[in-house]
Amino acid sequence: MSGKLILIVEDEHAIRQMIAFGLRRAGFDVREAADCREARQSLADQRPDLMLVDWMLPDMSGLELTRAVKRDRQTRELPIIMLTARAEEGDKVTGLENGADDYITKPFSPRELVARINAVLRRAGATGLDHVVEFEALKLDQQGQRITVDGQTVPLGPTEYRMLEFFMTHPERVFSRDQLLDRLWGGNVYVEERTIDVHVRRLRKSLEKYGLDRFVQTVRGSGYRFSAKAQ
Ligand code: CA
Repeated sequence: MSGKLILIVEDEHAIRQMIAFGLRRAGFDVREAADCREARQSLADQRPDLMLVDWMLPDMSGLELTRAVKRDRQTRELPIIMLTARAEEGDKVTGLENGADDYITKPFSPRELVARINAVLRRAGATGLDHVVEFEALKLDQQGQRITVDGQTVPLGPTEYRMLEFFMTHPERVFSRDQLLDRLWGGNVYVEERTIDVHVRRLRKSLEKYGLDRFVQTVRGSGYRFSAKAQ
């Protein structure tokens, strides 16, 4: 699991440092945030693979932050482990009900934390992140950030890669241009809907030589769908 990026949201400097140190030693990359505002900035800047959120934070509770992250479609699949000093069972339930994937009570050993993180990452992987997805000869390797056909890397521009990665992890569903803009450009940047058509065209062109452009289907009046089944 090394190389995964963990965002630590914890206001107590000493605890944050201790966690960061333990995680770096275990091979994780680490980013730190002292409050929810910093956490949001960090999330906008670079998406972590998992977030550790302390329950008690100065500007907004960790619970509210968790709820907000899980409500936002850009981040809702991001695994979250809540950290808390409170051992009550009721708090654990509240944390999990608000979208946390796991819960760990202070004090904990770095080893215990790493084990929990790995377990949550494995679970997240099993539901769609970082595993290999295949449609006939077309294979997505998220870990390696590449898409292959019969073992040969398909040459794709960064946007076409992101688009195909998105399609392959969300097959059989129709997405409007508007939804694709949101999912692929984060809704932050102003991009015209026509841009989607341009990238779809390029993507099909890249898949054409393998005879797989038929996977990217136009759904008239609605948008696009990725499917290995005949239209
Ligand atoms: Ca705290």
